[in-house]
Amino acid sequence: VVELQGVHKRFGSNTVLRGVSFQVARGEVVAIIGKSGSGKSTALRCINRLEQIDAGQISVCGHALHAAGLDLRGLRRDVGIVFQGYNLFPHLTVLQNITLGPTAVKRMPADQAQTLAQQVLARVGLADKAGAYPEQLSGGQQQRVAIARSLALQPQLMLFDEVTSALDPELTGEVLKVMEQMASEGMTMILVTHEMAFARRVADQVIFMHQGQVWEQGGPEILDAPVTPELRSFVGTGL
Ligand code: ATP
Ligand code: MG
Repeated sequence: VVELQGVHKRFGSNTVLRGVSFQVARGEVVAIIGKSGSGKSTALRCINRLEQIDAGQISVCGHALHAAGLDLRGLRRDVGIVFQGYNLFPHLTVLQNITLGPTAVKRMPADQAQTLAQQVLARVGLADKAGAYPEQLSGGQQQRVAIARSLALQPQLMLFDEVTSALDPELTGEVLKVMEQMASEGMTMILVTHEMAFARRVADQVIFMHQGQVWEQGGPEILDAPVTPELRSFVGTGL
């Protein structure tokens, strides 16, 4: 579903990705871990083409991101992304936040979009919050609405960038539960996370990034038996 090959990305003179390559198969859950500044978010943003790369190739859900005729709208339709900040529209209800995408992007009729919104809200455990405004919800509930909003576009791939890092521990749990549920339903997911226990339990593949490179990669067992001193030290500090 996703393939990165020798991806390089610079910001000015700062080379942030130095030949990143990895593959993600359909239904796979991939956890990207690594120290602050190692290039995790940049890699994720390149997959959704929120950033353009300087060298290498990326293919996502059949879209070759470097191709001249790239269907950017199609790519954005196929790939959902959820960030740390929820970015919900404060003046719209939960239901309206969710129906906006399907009606605007997919031209779905309003009643159909509302039915779909109710379905995705139920999936994240918030069926009773359709009429609420974002400010009336907890951080964890807002983040689950943000996930529901992505799901309403029926993506083939979901990207998550530290979606729980702004949340209290008890709210973190409810968001991780929703993500674990999505994983068990077969959603292909790439997540940047500091939740090592979650990565161990849910990820099929763990990618440790260091200084803009894939430094170590494998099943979750690499967290228990790191080969490189860098991963050993990263796992040891728990950051
Ligand atoms: P964190 O764990 O803190 O989120 P990260 O691994 O996600 O870190 P990135 O956000 O990918 O790291 O950043 C990697 C490097 O790229 C950093 O040195 C950062 O300063 C730089 N960088 C990221 N985005 C930009 C940008 N838009 N313009 C310039 N430099 C950037
Ligand atoms: Mg980041």
